[in-house]
Amino acid sequence: MRLYIGRICYPVTNLGPGKRFVLWVQGCSRRCPGCMSPELLVPDRGLQYSVREVFTEIQKIALVCGGVTISGGEPFEQAGPLAELCSLIKNFTNLDIMIYSGYTINEIMAGTYDMNLLLSKTDIIVDGSYRRELSGRKLWRGSDNQNLYLLTPHAQKYRQYVNAEYSANRQLLFQMTSDGQIVIIGIPARDFFMKFNSSVEKRGIKLKRAEWV
Ligand code: SF4
Repeated sequence: MRLYIGRICYPVTNLGPGKRFVLWVQGCSRRCPGCMSPELLVPDRGLQYSVREVFTEIQKIALVCGGVTISGGEPFEQAGPLAELCSLIKNFTNLDIMIYSGYTINEIMAGTYDMNLLLSKTDIIVDGSYRRELSGRKLWRGSDNQNLYLLTPHAQKYRQYVNAEYSANRQLLFQMTSDGQIVIIGIPARDFFMKFNSSVEKRGIKLKRAEWV
């Protein structure tokens, strides 16, 4: 089975507990206004990897990594191959699995067999569409309608994060892609882009944000 992947990064320390391997899948049909990853929405633009290839990368860092976060794009629109990947992670490592989805947990449970299979392999889920007008301070969430659920016994050690909030200074990571784009990793505060743009413009740098297609 093959996966469409937008990007992969390790280590990431601001999208879930600990030092994580993060996989952004390519493709999402939801189109939430204000989505911070418009470059990941078109399904056939990403790189194609076999499930086994991605798992091999995870295995390389499994002993020093806290867990795997799957974001996007929309993971549940590639539920079949991701369920296969998560089975391998569960069977051959001790890593926990956290998924960001624009679907609510109820929508996933009312969805396909593959969506439910993927949900059954998930330890932590952040669910629900990003809603710009509800952008708030909840830890690891873009907007306050999104909930963080601990779905397995393995995840109960993270209870303190369910209602946690960001401190005044959020950690964001910047990554340069092979084609020269700068990607922001993490969840910025609502006014971040405005402040960031004005700050870099004062230094003579003009940024262009990716747009939906
Ligand atoms: S579900 Fe996520 S990736 Fe998809 S449009 Fe909404 S914010 Fe963007």
